[in-house]
Amino acid sequence: MSRVRFLSLLFFETPTPRAIVVGSGLAGLSAATRLVSHNVPVRLLERSGKPGGNSMKASSGINGSPTKYQPLSDDAFYSDTIKSAGHAISTMTAHREKLISTLTNSSASAIEWLVESKGIDLSKVAQLGGHTYPRTHRGAGPVPPGASIVTALLNSLKKFNIFQLRTAVTVTKILQKDSRVVGVEYRCENGEHGELHGPVIFASGGFAGDAEGMLSHYRPDLAGFPSTNEARPGTQPLLAEVGAQLLDMNLVQVHPTGFVDPGSVESPVKFLAAEVLRGEGGLLLVDGKRFVNELETREDVTNAITVHPRASEAPVQWNVQIVLDEGVFEAAKSHVDFYLWKGLMKKTTLSELGPTALKSVKEFAKAASGKDLDVFHRTSFANWTLFEPSSNSVVYVGTVTPVVHFTMGGVLINEKSEVLQGDGESIEGIWAAGEVTGGVHGGNRLGGSSLLECVVFGRIAGEEAAKYFREITK
Ligand SMILES: Cc1cc2nc3c(=O)[nH]c(=O)nc-3n(C[C@H](O)[C@H](O)[C@H](O)COP(=O)(O)OP(=O)(O)OC[C@H]3O[C@@H](n4cnc5c(N)ncnc54)[C@H](O)[C@@H]3O)c2cc1C
Repeated sequence: MSRVRFLSLLFFETPTPRAIVVGSGLAGLSAATRLVSHNVPVRLLERSGKPGGNSMKASSGINGSPTKYQPLSDDAFYSDTIKSAGHAISTMTAHREKLISTLTNSSASAIEWLVESKGIDLSKVAQLGGHTYPRTHRGAGPVPPGASIVTALLNSLKKFNIFQLRTAVTVTKILQKDSRVVGVEYRCENGEHGELHGPVIFASGGFAGDAEGMLSHYRPDLAGFPSTNEARPGTQPLLAEVGAQLLDMNLVQVHPTGFVDPGSVESPVKFLAAEVLRGEGGLLLVDGKRFVNELETREDVTNAITVHPRASEAPVQWNVQIVLDEGVFEAAKSHVDFYLWKGLMKKTTLSELGPTALKSVKEFAKAASGKDLDVFHRTSFANWTLFEPSSNSVVYVGTVTPVVHFTMGGVLINEKSEVLQGDGESIEGIWAAGEVTGGVHGGNRLGGSSLLECVVFGRIAGEEAAKYFREITK
């Protein structure tokens, strides 16, 4: 017997009962951590070759309040989330309110758990769009928050011999017996396939990268758009097959600025050009001309871009330039240095952008220096300091395009992370957490609240599945 086959047998066919977690992003890792803390053996199945999912990419941070770094007692987190959810809140209102209060009321303990129990640095707090107060936590060092949280949880899980992770294994079906979920069917990259039995936690992420599949079904207007997420099929249909209700599937967050990498212009996966570039004073040009107040919401900036002719159909993208001066560069240095290193931005002079761009930047600079000039209603210029631009002025430039970023919709859960059917009854034996679920954010997710939902509902799912595991193995 080959070594691979032997290890595989050990993983899939041991007689010990276990819980199954599908997906190794932050929601799956939070759930698995809770399960092993109750001494429940865990098999974590991950379809990708390496763990971490999109959670690894998160760069702004995780929300929480009050915390030791943001001690303000903050009722506004709940109302900010309701406001950001928009019209969606008018349907299933009581249900959504319960999910949102679970999210916001558990935010303090989520941060405390990560900091005190897992030793993760979350000492920097920033204020993102839509938040009344600063409450988005990240570390003081250079490692982005998603990577530092995921790495810490993975390292701590690896210390438990009852925890086992298998990568390159895709769950293809949920198994039911008498309407109870009893396990999953899986297929490995090497062609091996089979069944694994036990209670199941689904933490398989969103469908923002599924451009030709679920996106084109639920949002045909976004079919073929590039994404910040890996180009992989969404998994909500697997849950729908066992009766889970899907909610808000057409509510999709598009980010106006994903980098078009000059080395792979046609790649469907783009690096996010962080909001901070516009927030610190950057401007956007199409054909050398400004066309929008760059500080408008993601949706408004995206809409202002997409009225222009497309630069390409596959993927569907536009040719927008983002331009920073030295002042903006200094303010966003940690981000921009990385983008320069990756070749996503370059340092150049205004002459390279052509005479129309020079004229636009001169107009912007006049307004920034206090002249009474309406430049698309923009009144804040943050750290822009280039007040007398010339063709020799140094600027930092990249090409950006709107990208599908986050899917608000997914399977309906309750505040116990139980997966619900259309009649509101839970399906026995299965829980879900993270971006695969719907209803927590309504029409628009607040920045920093996705990592939070992964921790809050992931931990709840782990707790509930551990109780169930004890009952069925008594
Ligand atoms: C560039 C970027 C920046 C972001 N920044 C922030 C931020 O600063 N703050 C914030 O709150 N949110 C941010 N987000 C959103 C946030 O990172 C994600 O929504 C969140 O991490 C999702 O976590 P998850 O555990 O639900 O899913 P994921 O982290 O995506 O993990 C799901 C995993 O499940 C696996 N999987 C899927 N289907 C199967 C299957 N059938 N079988 C086996 N495995 C499967 C996938 O391969 C994946 O590894 C950002 C997102 C991106 C893309």
